[in-house]
Amino acid sequence: MTDENKPLNFLEQIIQRDLEEGKYQQITTRFPPEPNGYLHIGHAKSICLNFGLAEKFGGRCNLRFDDTNPAKEDQEYVQAIMDDVRWLGFHWDGEVRYASSYFDQLYQWAIYLIEAGKAYVCHLSPDQAREYRGTLTEPGKNSPYRDRSVAENLEWFEKMRSGALADGECVLRARIDMAHGNINMRDPILYRIRKQTHHQTGDKWCIYPTYDYAHGQGDAIEGVTHSICTLEFADHKPLYDWLIDNLPVPAQPRQYEFGRLNLNYTITSKRKLKQLVDEGYVDGWSDPRMPTIAGFRRRGYTPAAIRKFCEMIGVTRADGVVDVAMLEHAIRDDLDKNAPRAMVVLRPLKVVLTNVPEQHFEDLVAKGHPHRDDLPDRQLPFGREIYIDQDDFREEANKKYKRLVLGKRVRLRNAYVIEAEQAIKDPNGAIVEVRARLIEDTLGKDPQDGNKPKGVIQWVAAHRCADLEVRLYDRLFTDPAPDAGDKNFLDFINPESLTVQHNCKGEISLLDSVAGTSYQFEREGYFCLDSASEGMVFNRTISLKDSFGKGDEQ
Ligand code: ATP
Ligand code: MG
Repeated sequence: MTDENKPLNFLEQIIQRDLEEGKYQQITTRFPPEPNGYLHIGHAKSICLNFGLAEKFGGRCNLRFDDTNPAKEDQEYVQAIMDDVRWLGFHWDGEVRYASSYFDQLYQWAIYLIEAGKAYVCHLSPDQAREYRGTLTEPGKNSPYRDRSVAENLEWFEKMRSGALADGECVLRARIDMAHGNINMRDPILYRIRKQTHHQTGDKWCIYPTYDYAHGQGDAIEGVTHSICTLEFADHKPLYDWLIDNLPVPAQPRQYEFGRLNLNYTITSKRKLKQLVDEGYVDGWSDPRMPTIAGFRRRGYTPAAIRKFCEMIGVTRADGVVDVAMLEHAIRDDLDKNAPRAMVVLRPLKVVLTNVPEQHFEDLVAKGHPHRDDLPDRQLPFGREIYIDQDDFREEANKKYKRLVLGKRVRLRNAYVIEAEQAIKDPNGAIVEVRARLIEDTLGKDPQDGNKPKGVIQWVAAHRCADLEVRLYDRLFTDPAPDAGDKNFLDFINPESLTVQHNCKGEISLLDSVAGTSYQFEREGYFCLDSASEGMVFNRTISLKDSFGKGDEQ
C-alpha cells in the first residue's frame, strides 16, 4: 500500500537516522487513546502513523489506553477502540496496555520525587493556584506549601492515597520553577484526589496521576522509543523530559509532535461528538453521519480507503485543514474498483411491457463488475412487469433528457430496448404506471429498424426483486468550519443530513448481501447493508461523482 518512491516524511527521516546511527536496534511506538469516546478520523491519522511507522521499520506499536481520568472513561469505549484499530487492519504488540497498570509504579515514583525534594503536597484552591501560576508574560509565585519538609509531604501524600481527604482538598505537585517561561513547568500537578471507581482498577485508588505525569513514564516502562503526539503537546515537552530526567525510569523515550488532522465540514473533537450523541442529534457514536471509525464502518467506508487517505494527507509539523472531498475521493476510488454492481430503483414506477406474455419469464445475466472478472456474474430475472425510477420517465421532454419518454425508446441496462406507449394516471393526475413495448432482438444489439435509444436506465423485475429501505446521507454540517472561533456547531447541523427512502426495489443479488459489503447501485451511488438494522436497509456510503447520471453512461 505504501509508495516506495515517496520521499520520507520528517518522522521517517528521524527514525531512519536513529536506526542507522545505532541509537536503537528496533523502534517502538504507541497509540495512546483515552477511552472517553469513540475514535474519529483524526485518530485514524495517528493510528496509521504510529502503526505504519512500526510496520515500515520492522518495529513494534503498542496500544495503550491513557486511562488516568476515571470520571469520563468507560469500558464500552475500550472495546470500541480495540475493534476500530483491528478493523483498520493494524495489530498491536502483545497485550493491550493501560496507563492504569502502572499506577503502583507511578505512585512509587511520586514518593521518589518527594524524597528527592522534587514534589510537594499543595493545598491551594484551584482559584488560588491559578493566581499563583502567573501568566504568559509574568512569572508565578511560590506556593506557601512549597517548602514543607519531606516527612510532612510523605505524610500528606499518604493521607491523599488512603482516602482520608476529600476530592480537591490538595494535590501533589512537581517542584520545578514557578518563574519558568513555560507555564507547564510552574510546579505542575502530578496527582489529584478523585474518589471514583475506575473501569480497570476498581476502588483501589482514590488518587489519580495526571496525563503529563503518567504519559512519559508509561512510554519509558514500555520501552517506547518515539512517542508521537499532536502539536498541542509541544509545550508539554520540557515537562515530559524533566520527568524522564528526574525519575529512575528504565528507558529514555523522546516525544515528537506532528500536525493534527482537521477536516472541513467535520468535527474532530470527542467532546463535541459526545454531545451530538448524548443530546440525540445522531443515532449513537456509530451513526453513519458521524466522522467516527465506527460510523464510517457502518456507512460502508473501507479500511483500505481510510488508510489510503491518511497516506495522501501525509505527515507534517504544521496544522492544517484538509478538504473532506479528499476523503470522499479515496472512498469512491476504492469502491469504484472493488464494489460489485447492482441495479436498484429508489422511487419505483411500474412499467408493463404489453407485448411480453404474462407467463414469460427469463433470466438475463450481468457482470458483477465491469472490470473485475473475479467477481461473480449476476442473475437478472426479467418478465412482463418491471420497475424503473420515477425520474426516468416523462411524458414529454427535450433532447437533453435521455431517458424514457412517451413514444421514445430507452435501453434497459443489461437487457432490452423498450418504447413507451402510454402513461396511466390516478385521479390526481399522478403517473402510476407506464405501458411500453419491448423491441425484439435488442439484447446486446441495436434495434434493427435503426431507431437507436440514446439513454440507458436501470430497472428491476417486479416478479422477483428485493424490497429495500435506503438511507441517503448528506454532510452533517452545513458550514465548512462549524466549530471555528466562537461558533456553536449545533447551529450548523444539516436538517437534511438523512433522507429515508422506503419501498425501493433492488435486484435479487442483494438478497445475499452481508453488512459491510458495498455495492455500486448503478447510476445512484455506493451503498451497503446497514449493520444495525433488521432486514434490507441500505446506507448510501457516497454518491457517484456526477450526482446524476447522464443516462448514456455505462
Ligand atoms: P479529542 O480532541 O478528540 O478529544 P484527544 O487527543 O483528546 O482527541 P486521545 O484519545 O487522547 O484524544 O488521542 C489519542 C491519540 O490520537 C493522541 O496521540 C492524539 O494526539 C491523537 N489524535 C487525536 N486527535 C487527532 C487528530 N485530529 N489528528 C491527529 N491525531 C489525533
Ligand atoms: Mg488527549
